Amino acid sequence: MRQSQLFTKIKKEVPSGEVAKNAQLLLQAGFIHKEMAGVYSFLPLGLRVIENIKQIIRKELNAAGCQEMCMTALQSKAIWEKTNRWSDDVVDNWFKTTLKNGTELGLAFTHEESIAQIMSNYVHSYKDLPFFAYQFQTKFRNELRAKSGIMRGREFLMKDLYSFHTDKKAHDEFYEKMKEVYMEIFRTLGLGDNTYLTMSSGEPFSKYSFEFQTISEAGEDTILFDKEKKVAINKDDFSDQIFIDFGLNKDEYNFEEAKSIEIGDIYSLGTKYSEALNLTYADAEGKNHPVFMGSYGIGISRVMGTIVEVCNDKNGMIWPEEVAPFAVHLVSLCVEDSDVAKVDALYQKLVDAGVSVLYDDRDLRPGQKFAESDIIGIPHRVIMSKKTMQDNSVEYIDRKAGNTEFLTADDVVRLTASWQSS
Ligand code: ATP
Ligand code: MG
Repeated sequence: MRQSQLFTKIKKEVPSGEVAKNAQLLLQAGFIHKEMAGVYSFLPLGLRVIENIKQIIRKELNAAGCQEMCMTALQSKAIWEKTNRWSDDVVDNWFKTTLKNGTELGLAFTHEESIAQIMSNYVHSYKDLPFFAYQFQTKFRNELRAKSGIMRGREFLMKDLYSFHTDKKAHDEFYEKMKEVYMEIFRTLGLGDNTYLTMSSGEPFSKYSFEFQTISEAGEDTILFDKEKKVAINKDDFSDQIFIDFGLNKDEYNFEEAKSIEIGDIYSLGTKYSEALNLTYADAEGKNHPVFMGSYGIGISRVMGTIVEVCNDKNGMIWPEEVAPFAVHLVSLCVEDSDVAKVDALYQKLVDAGVSVLYDDRDLRPGQKFAESDIIGIPHRVIMSKKTMQDNSVEYIDRKAGNTEFLTADDVVRLTASWQSS
């Protein structure tokens, strides 16, 4: 895409009134727009990142046999009353509204009730199980505080997956597999090194659940983690008793304490929702049983905010290749028509090779172009100027390492096409 056509512009200053680094940088670079506290729109660059994150997750979940669907945000009171989750005394972050005829509705903060209700239409016999269904959907939560930028929204994007099995044993096998699938997703997202599978308290089925916590000063949680053993426990749940519950010997671990961000979690739900919503199956003898459920969340917008928190330097953001809005930032410092034609030609070659390129074709001072390129944080920068053309070369800068190399235009096409496909 030609940058001259991008309607968003980069602001000189970090916007005031934002405390969270992720919101500061994303607003400054025009990735997001703040509608109000905790409510953000995704603009073209930001949406490209969101879509990349979704695609990485979609690929892993589909490979694990999960099916994508999409449920409604508007929810009827009746199904949530069945599980006792309609009352504001029980769930304190509902957004609720009413129809013109007075009927009360809720805006979904999660979807266990909704999916159990849907599946009761399709599950009849043990032969209909197991299966796994997920969605990417906007969730609404009337959060008390919204000071972590896009990491804690009142309207935010979540991936929620639900599993349906005949019994706990079958469920446990899938649950264990999902721990691996999640870690693989977080590795691909560039968060693998500082993300820990973290033991936490859990309701309704078991005493504990697992969270995926990424170590960051910007986090609202605190974990105790053992770097070597790759084990962590949420500090809220750290006591001699929740160790006994987890079946761990405290003395075997060398725990360090750190602030962290919960980017995902997995729960064994048991039969709480299936019993309440009549999601049952008949076994081989024709006897009815409630379906055993699990739920598995990832905060899509929180992941994006977390990547910004973890991957930045004093000059701006540094996107991991897999989620970057573009793979290459082609920065032209050329003004004469014959030179510009050469940059245009390289742009076209890259596009033809399937590389995603943001082409800074604007007539601006080099200093401003470089500063803005740093802020946007595209991993690979290619600069073409009169000077580089004299040597028949282009200047290549790795945004993360900061090192410069001089390459031929053909090298750039070959290299960037291989980054894109790897
Ligand atoms: P938290 O403890 O941070 O409030 P939660 O445990 O209530 O989160 P879940 O219901 O487990 O959240 O939601 C699944 C995932 O959705 C979380 O692991 C997190 O990544 C993300 N998430 C939850 N609340 C928000 C929010 N307000 N804004 C953005 N992402 C969120
Ligand atoms: Mg959670």
